[in-house]
Amino acid sequence: MQIPKKPRYEYAKHVGRDFIKSLHIHSYPIDPIDIIYRMDWRLEIDDLCGEEGYTFYNTRNKQYCIVIDNGQNVSKQRCKFTIAHEIGHILMKHYTTFARNTLDDHAYRVLDIEANVVAGELLMPYLSIHKNPDKSIDFLAQKYDVSYGAMVTRLKFLGLHHLYEGTNDTSVACEHISSYHT
Ligand SMILES: [Zn+2]
Repeated sequence: MQIPKKPRYEYAKHVGRDFIKSLHIHSYPIDPIDIIYRMDWRLEIDDLCGEEGYTFYNTRNKQYCIVIDNGQNVSKQRCKFTIAHEIGHILMKHYTTFARNTLDDHAYRVLDIEANVVAGELLMPYLSIHKNPDKSIDFLAQKYDVSYGAMVTRLKFLGLHHLYEGTNDTSVACEHISSYHT
């Protein structure tokens, strides 16, 4: 399959939403480590020398193993996002559809954005956010255990930020999705 030239935002949203629905999770925050165990994937912690995480797919036993850095200064929230991002790659079938050695910088960026979209759907589920229309950004950030900035980015991406700010800013913050990570 050809590597998409642009991130498949709609597809990634649906992949994330369908998956979270299938897990029947009704309590928050969502712990991506629980997801790994439920899916029978593996998690390892290692010194990745600056990399935050990656996923290894064993073609023989068809087993995914997510490896995250043992960085001492990384917050728990950031760590959770890194894991959710890797889960995003898995759910989008990036590792089984595209050969790593065929990916250039642009392709990596496209696939990373798609993984970030899925990660946002996993950690801050659309349906759950919708059920809390009268709650503050602080409340939501606490509920989903994400940073305030990540919550704002998510609301902008969903076109809901104006509900919280009293503005008409409904612009889609696709290009800022990477700031989930800050
Ligand atoms: Zn990635």
